[in-house]
Amino acid sequence: MIYPDVNIEEWCKRYRLEIRSHKCLCCGDQQITSMPWASKHWRGLIAPTHGCGESYRFSVAVEISTEGQQDWKNIYSLIE
Ligand SMILES: [Zn+2]
Repeated sequence: MIYPDVNIEEWCKRYRLEIRSHKCLCCGDQQITSMPWASKHWRGLIAPTHGCGESYRFSVAVEISTEGQQDWKNIYSLIE
């Protein structure tokens, strides 16, 4: 998973994502999905770490097409 340095509004528009908030199931703190993330064929938003560990981070994701993956590879060669 990488955290691309992109404009969050454009990211949301491009992948039809919405910034959401959700209570942590561990500590009850409000988490906001304010960081764009990407892995091979997934794009999403994730809440920053807040001390409860990766499994408690709230995130949303969408799966993208093969075409979209190709575009991505042209821009970010980091993705395997
Ligand atoms: Zn927590």
